[in-house]
Amino acid sequence: MSKVVIIGGGIIGATTAYALLGKGITDITILERDTVGSGGTGKTAGIIRCHYGVTSICALALYSLDFFENAKELIGTDIEFEQVGYLVGIGEENLEPFRASLANQRSIGVETEEITPAAAKELWPTANVDDFATFCLEKRGGYGDGYATVQGLAAYLRTQGVAIKQGAKVAELLAADGKVSGVKLVDGEIVEADVVVVAAGAWSVPLLAPLGIDLPITPQFVQEVVIDPAMELGTPPVFSDLVSMQYVHLRGPELLFGNSDGTSVTPITDPDVYPNHASNEAIERTAEKAILRFPGIEDPGVSTTTTGQVDSTPDNNAIISATDISGLFVAAGMSGHGFKISPGVGRLMADLIVEGDSTIPNVKASDFRLSRFAEGDLLLSPYPYVGAVGIR
Ligand SMILES: Cc1cc2nc3c(=O)[nH]c(=O)nc-3n(C[C@H](O)[C@H](O)[C@H](O)COP(=O)(O)OP(=O)(O)OC[C@H]3O[C@@H](n4cnc5c(N)ncnc54)[C@H](O)[C@@H]3O)c2cc1C
Repeated sequence: MSKVVIIGGGIIGATTAYALLGKGITDITILERDTVGSGGTGKTAGIIRCHYGVTSICALALYSLDFFENAKELIGTDIEFEQVGYLVGIGEENLEPFRASLANQRSIGVETEEITPAAAKELWPTANVDDFATFCLEKRGGYGDGYATVQGLAAYLRTQGVAIKQGAKVAELLAADGKVSGVKLVDGEIVEADVVVVAAGAWSVPLLAPLGIDLPITPQFVQEVVIDPAMELGTPPVFSDLVSMQYVHLRGPELLFGNSDGTSVTPITDPDVYPNHASNEAIERTAEKAILRFPGIEDPGVSTTTTGQVDSTPDNNAIISATDISGLFVAAGMSGHGFKISPGVGRLMADLIVEGDSTIPNVKASDFRLSRFAEGDLLLSPYPYVGAVGIR
């Protein structure tokens, strides 16, 4: 029976433990330097959708939906998944990749339908939809709460005997003769293990570097803006506007806005050092776009901003991979869209540990291998959208 140590108490560490339990592995310890959900997971906008061009990612998201929809039954907690649907609007320039991507999504079982701008307007009556060519609606999409989800998972994991140690910062990975043997904490304690999973986001980089493993992950500062619409909006779907390149969804009675043109995401050197509020420039840009798109909201006001840090790779896709060191695995580099695929990522990691390959339909494990970067074989959508960041 393997003894597994998972470094990182974010959603990826938690879902990996959850999936390992499902395979009968019970000797699991999660080591979290701070508190569960204190990293990117606690800051996520939480958008859940399967709209991806890369088949393996689309399939990870589809697999994950079952967890989000059935969490209450599976782990006994309400994780606050608001299944309001996910709406994507595009301009003429993106018609071809959009329809090709939708066809691919449907071919693996994603429920998504193309709808007219008039039908989209019924869902978002305050929006101006005149400059869109078409829309699609994914009814099973929506948004979740990263903090509630990871806390719910942690509570469940504890009931199943998983040890979750908070305030347990790993200083060093221990390996000899090409095989991992455990980790050493900053206080000198050694935790032995047959298998170590590094799921520590951008903080994974310095953990693996001393072993000669180079993770091409750059921490990036992300800014989002919360706008008070000062009116009742009902329950509209999450709206991904690929004309003005922004996304928006309800957060309580307010609206959370983000930019999808890349300008609100900037590289930083230290994943722990970034402002806790958005810049005036980002606020103004977001507010301008929001006002233009939603003329029906008569008296909007910026109420607050949220910021965070995402762990981006060169192809904006995750590393879910074995390494050259036996027993040492990595699940990091979620590139700002790891929440919606997290149950699938955890399952794929458990598959790699136990079976050595993916058992999730339509997910190719090799797509997420670490060596793809050195090989120049990046994981990119065959249907890229003009003007949008490559995470669709
Ligand atoms: C503002 C924002 C908006 C986002 N919006 C979305 C969205 O709409 N949809 C979506 O799917 N995704 C979104 N994401 C991305 C998503 O939240 C992340 O991809 C996901 O939460 C990453 O989970 P993780 O477990 O890999 O990392 P984290 O949650 O960062 O967890 C890593 C953990 O490792 C711990 N750690 C680090 N070093 C050590 C060490 N040495 N020893 C022990 N523990 C250590 C950290 O403290 C941290 O808790 C967003 C992210 C942000 C920041």
